[in-house]
Amino acid sequence: MKNKVLIVYTGGTIGMVQDENGSLKPFPMDHIYDLVPELKKCTYTIDTCQMDNIIDSSNMTPTCWIELAEIIERQYDNYDGFVILHGTDTMAYTASALSFMFKNLSKPIILTGSQLPMGVLRSDGRENIICALELASCREAYIPEVCLFFENHLYRGNRSTKVSAENFDAFCSFNYPSLAKAAIKLSFKPHLFLPKPVKPLEVRKSFDRNITVLKLFPGITPTVVEAILHTPDLHGVIIETFGSGNAPTEPWFINAIADAIKRGIVVLNVTQCKAGAVIMGQYEASCELSRIGVIGGNDITLEAAVTKMMYILGTYPNDLDHVRQSLQYSLRGEITTTLNDSCNI
Ligand code: ASP
Repeated sequence: MKNKVLIVYTGGTIGMVQDENGSLKPFPMDHIYDLVPELKKCTYTIDTCQMDNIIDSSNMTPTCWIELAEIIERQYDNYDGFVILHGTDTMAYTASALSFMFKNLSKPIILTGSQLPMGVLRSDGRENIICALELASCREAYIPEVCLFFENHLYRGNRSTKVSAENFDAFCSFNYPSLAKAAIKLSFKPHLFLPKPVKPLEVRKSFDRNITVLKLFPGITPTVVEAILHTPDLHGVIIETFGSGNAPTEPWFINAIADAIKRGIVVLNVTQCKAGAVIMGQYEASCELSRIGVIGGNDITLEAAVTKMMYILGTYPNDLDHVRQSLQYSLRGEITTTLNDSCNI
């Protein structure tokens, strides 16, 4: 029997074509063979569907993530793999969110997009979509992960980050190698894949949006920090710190964070650097954070930190200890530490 791949279109540049006046408009995905006639050569079956509203990915929300997950959940047994066409701006967030939602995933879900619309002569979309489909349909390679494909590289979704608003190689995964590469041949690195799950798929659909990101900069004022930490109904804060997790040691700053933690707000320390990890206690400037109960985010990306915190707080709203513990574990390979399956998240 032929392999089957489902394309789910969400919006973004990749699905755009120019109308007669030169303006960009979404292309009807069921006509994809007109736009990419090369797909007729594929040896597998391709079906297409789309989200209710086609959006620029700047409008992506947890509600859309749930809609997307439900489309795939409904079709999970009918296809060998899934390709999601998505705007590049928030693609790494959606890839991260889906990675947490799909526990015990055993089929590839690959997000891709493009920097130039498909309907434009030099578009990178055609190649991205063809490679993503080839990878998603390849039963032999068997990639049991949510991934992101862009400009010849297949990345783990929750390790990827958008790095360029201009270049075709717009994404990077600084802290984990790519899982596969498209050159003359498709080459896979199966030793880097997540292990094959033994339990059945579970799709989790709760997100807590009451979180925020506090990005530090030299000269940040107590007024700004206090205002952020006193946001009504706040449940979690990600502090984007300097270097390997360092922050001001001034008492006003430490006291403000300590007070937030006492009020039950979960605080995670993530570095502003693109590569490398938070190592709490390496410098004096992070010792205090560790002492007052800030959690070290290790080498997590901001995209994965935001979606993981929303996901864990949404899944375990009344168990703060569990939430704090889970932030230190690797749930889907998002941080470099032993994968933890025992916490059932
Ligand atoms: N603004 C677009 C989006 O993210 C950009 C893109 O698709 O590349 O939806």
